[in-house]
Formats: sequence, C-alpha cells, structure tokens
Amino acid sequence: MGQLLEDDIARLRRVLHGSALNQVLLKVGDRWTWEILQQAFLGVRRFDDFQTALGIPRQTLSARLRALVADGLLRQELYQEHPPRMAYRLTKMGLALYPRALIAWAWEMRWGKPPANMPRRLRHRTCGHELKPLLICETCGHELRLEDLKREITDPGDVELPKAVRARRWAGGLPTRKELLQQKEVHLPRLLSDRYSMMILVAVSHDCHYFDEIMKVLGLGSSVLAVRLDMLTRFGLLDKLQDRYDGRRFYYRTGAAAQALSMYMLLLSRWGQQYLLKARGTIRVRHLVCGEIVQPAVVCEHCREPVEAYDVERL
Ligand SMILES: [Zn+2]
Ligand SMILES: [Zn+2]
Repeated sequence: MGQLLEDDIARLRRVLHGSALNQVLLKVGDRWTWEILQQAFLGVRRFDDFQTALGIPRQTLSARLRALVADGLLRQELYQEHPPRMAYRLTKMGLALYPRALIAWAWEMRWGKPPANMPRRLRHRTCGHELKPLLICETCGHELRLEDLKREITDPGDVELPKAVRARRWAGGLPTRKELLQQKEVHLPRLLSDRYSMMILVAVSHDCHYFDEIMKVLGLGSSVLAVRLDMLTRFGLLDKLQDRYDGRRFYYRTGAAAQALSMYMLLLSRWGQQYLLKARGTIRVRHLVCGEIVQPAVVCEHCREPVEAYDVERL
C-alpha cells in the first residue's frame, strides 16, 4: 500500500468536501430524516401514522417534517377540514430518492440487521413477481458492477460551496462516542446519520488507507476517527491489516459490504447532483461497458421495468 503525498491529500480533501455525497449527507444525513422518508415510501402520510410507526418524539417528528417540506422533499396537503389535518406527500424530488431506498433495503437485507418493521419481501405490482431490485446503467441497460466503473475526479480548487446547500442543525452532526460504542450491528439509517463514518468509507475507497491520511483528508481529530474505524471494522465494512513493511502500522481497506454500499452511495450522489448541486459535482463515475457517465437506474430483475414508488407492496 503506497502512501499519499501531501498534495494528493490536500486535493482529495477538497474533492471529498465538494462531493455531491457530502452535500447530501449535510442536508439530509440524519437518522430520523431517513426513517421518515422510508415510511413515506411505504405509503405513510399522516403525522400520527409516522409517529406510531417510528416511535419518534412528536417535537422531533414535527421539526423533521417541516425541514423536509422546506427542502422540497415533501409537500403538505389538507386531508381533513374540520379540524384541519395535514398529510405529507412526496414531491418529485422526494420520489426521486425512492430507487435509493430500494437499494438501501436490499443492502440492509443482505449485509445489515433489518429492523422488525422493515418488510422482508416485496412484490413488484407491475409484473406481479417478487421484487429483486437491480441497478443498471440507463444508457446501455447493463447491470452496474463495481469492476466496470471508473471514477473521474475534478479538483474544485478552493471554491466556496454553493450557498443553497447548508447543513441542517441536526444533519451532518455527530453521534456521541457512547452511541457509537453501543452500536452492535449495522443499521443503515444510523450509519448514514454519522456523516464522518460514511466519508471515512469514501476516503478509504479513494486509496486513502492509513490512519493519519484519513485524519488529514477528512480533517478529523484522532479520537473521533479511532472510534469510527473500530466501529466500521467491527461491522465488517473495513478490513484492518498489518502493514507489510512496518508491523506497527495498520492500513484499512473496504470489505465486500462497503463495496456493495458504494453502489448505494452512487445513487445518493446522483440525486445530490440533480437536486442539490444542480451541477456535475467533483466525482463522476464512468461506465466502462458503454463509455458514458453513469446514470444509474433501478429496475425489477424479473421484468426489467423501472421501479417506481407505489408500484411496490409488501409480500
Ligand atoms: Zn452503460
Ligand atoms: Zn417486475
């Protein structure tokens, strides 16, 4: 494993900071936000139904719903006049996250520990078969496989972030050290709610393998980083290996679960480029099969039709 030069580190730091994924996590990277969206995709509309499904404190729920409306992912609709009651419906921008939610679901089924209220099997209404979501390249129709993807990086220089993307008070924040130590198994909304853990996975997948490199690239303190590296290693997302030339040093590399998760991050980045940055972002991914920049799409493995929200039901 080669070490990075200072220049590479500074560049990677700018690239990751300006990446669409980082922006998405800053905006909506909050455990409750993801869980509310997940319920919305399952058809939940009303305040009380969200509350029952999630067991979330009412004040927290109402703050998150307000933010989701302000950010344009949900819209309010009067469903009862006396007394006035509001329903929350997904907007086009919110619905565009649905394929991401399907891939998250599939990932959680395969690699995580799905919570009790998560459906175990889904049916695609369009064809009537059990739904197995498949991630394809929209341009050529081939299934997207990690080995067929090539990253292209644009150094944004020291440009300021677009003003529209500002972190929510609770998003992009950090779980406490105690919360991280208590997590015994991977649960995706919780993992997503810790932007630093996600960005550590991204940094490692960008050839940043050593503790001090990751620390510099992400601008993290050593204890903040150490507790996360331990957690990610414990979850099997990272492998921790002894350096071949220096037995006192360790390097990290992504495991199979993290590689599968990177496909999910690709969808999230794409969404961020379209709806938050409205620009190409610092990291683009090219599909080597067709030679085009990847436009990921999720289809049903059986009928190969795109999968839309509301076309899916629990089995
Ligand atoms: Zn392609
Ligand atoms: Zn189908």
